[in-house]
Amino acid sequence: MQRRDFIKTSSAAMLAVMIPEGNMIPTPESMHDVIIVGGSYSGMSAALTLGHARRSVLLIDANEPCNARVPHSHNLLTHDGEAPAELRAQARRDVARYSTVRMLEGRAIEVSGSDGAFVVRTAEGGEHRSRKLLLALGVRDELPSIAGLADCWGITAAACPFCHGYEVSERALGIIGSSPDNIQYAILLRNWSRNLRVFTNGASTFTDEQRDMLQKHEVEVVEAPIAEVLHEKGRVKAVSLTDGGRIAVDALFLRPRSVVPSAMLQSLGITLTEQGLLQVDFVQRTNVAGVFASGDCTTPMRALSVAMASGTMAGSAIVHELVVPSH
Ligand SMILES: Cc1cc2nc3c(=O)[nH]c(=O)nc-3n(C[C@H](O)[C@H](O)[C@H](O)COP(=O)(O)OP(=O)(O)OC[C@H]3O[C@@H](n4cnc5c(N)ncnc54)[C@H](O)[C@@H]3O)c2cc1C
Repeated sequence: MQRRDFIKTSSAAMLAVMIPEGNMIPTPESMHDVIIVGGSYSGMSAALTLGHARRSVLLIDANEPCNARVPHSHNLLTHDGEAPAELRAQARRDVARYSTVRMLEGRAIEVSGSDGAFVVRTAEGGEHRSRKLLLALGVRDELPSIAGLADCWGITAAACPFCHGYEVSERALGIIGSSPDNIQYAILLRNWSRNLRVFTNGASTFTDEQRDMLQKHEVEVVEAPIAEVLHEKGRVKAVSLTDGGRIAVDALFLRPRSVVPSAMLQSLGITLTEQGLLQVDFVQRTNVAGVFASGDCTTPMRALSVAMASGTMAGSAIVHELVVPSH
C-alpha cells in the first residue's frame, strides 16, 4: 500500500499549537503528544477528543476495518443503517478540522520505547515518536474454511444479531458452529427468528441435555459436513451438505475466532486477557505506562458505539496524563 497523508499538515501549523503556559513544553513535529495506531472508529474517536483538547496527534491507519464489507451498519444512534464507508468518511472530515491531528495511511510494524518516548516504525519506512501511545488495532476475524462463506461475511453472514438480526427477522437463519456455547447463541437468535438451524459441520459434541435444550426451543441440529455456502454476490441462498442435502437459508450467524494483530507489540509486554485481547482498566490504560488501548482489541462487546466510546475515554485519559502532573 502506498504511504499517503490524508491531510497535509505543515510543520508550521504543527508548531503553531497554542499550549497554555506552564502546562507542558511545546511539541515539535518530530515528537507528537500521541501516536494512535489504528484509525478506524475507535482511533478516530480518540483523535477527535485529542484534537479538541489541542494535543498533537499522529494517527496511523492501514485502512482495513473489520466491517469493510458491510453494506449498512445498524444499532448506532443517529446513524442507524448508514454505510460504514460513509461513517468513516464523515469521521475523517470531523477529525480533519483539527490542525494538530495528522492522519497517515500506513502500517505500523514495530512499536518500542517507554512512557514519554515511544517509537513507531511503519512498513512504509517511517519512524515516528510520541509521548503516549494508543492502540486501536481492532481484531482480525478468522472464519472457518468453508467454500463461499468468506464471500458472504459482512453481507449475509455476521456474528452479531444486535447489528444484523432485525433485517432478517423471521427469515430462515443458520448458525455455523459445534461448540456448546452455540446453544446459548441459538436461543438468543430465536429472539429474531424461530426458523433456525445449527449447522455443526460434522459430528457435534453436544450433550443429550444440550440437544434437549435445542429441541425444546425448536432449533434443528444439522450434523452433516458442509460442502459449500451457496450465494449470489454474498447473499446466502443455501447451505449445501456433503451428503447431497441442500438447505435454504437467508442468513448465517457464526462467531469466528477474533485475533488481535499484536505481533508488533511483543517488546512492550502488554498483558492480555484470557480471550487474547489487550487488557485495559476503566480508563483504557494497559499495564504498560503511557500505553492505552481502545475498541475491539480490548473488548468482546463489538459495536461501533462501544468502540467510539472507549476511544473517547482513552483520548480523555491521555490528555489528563499529559496535562495534570501525577504528583
Ligand atoms: C461483519 C461485521 C459487521 C458489523 N456490523 C456492525 C453493525 O452493524 N453495527 C455496529 O455497531 N457494529 C458492527 N460491527 C462491529 C464494528 O464494526 C466494530 O466494533 C468496530 O469496527 C470496531 O472499531 P475499531 O476501531 O476498534 O476496529 P476496526 O474498525 O476493525 O479498525 C481497526 C483499524 O486498525 C487498523 N490497524 C490494525 N493494525 C494496524 C497496524 N499495525 N498499523 C496501522 N493500522 C492498523 C486497521 O487497518 C483498521 O483500520 C460489525 C463487525 C463485523 C465484523
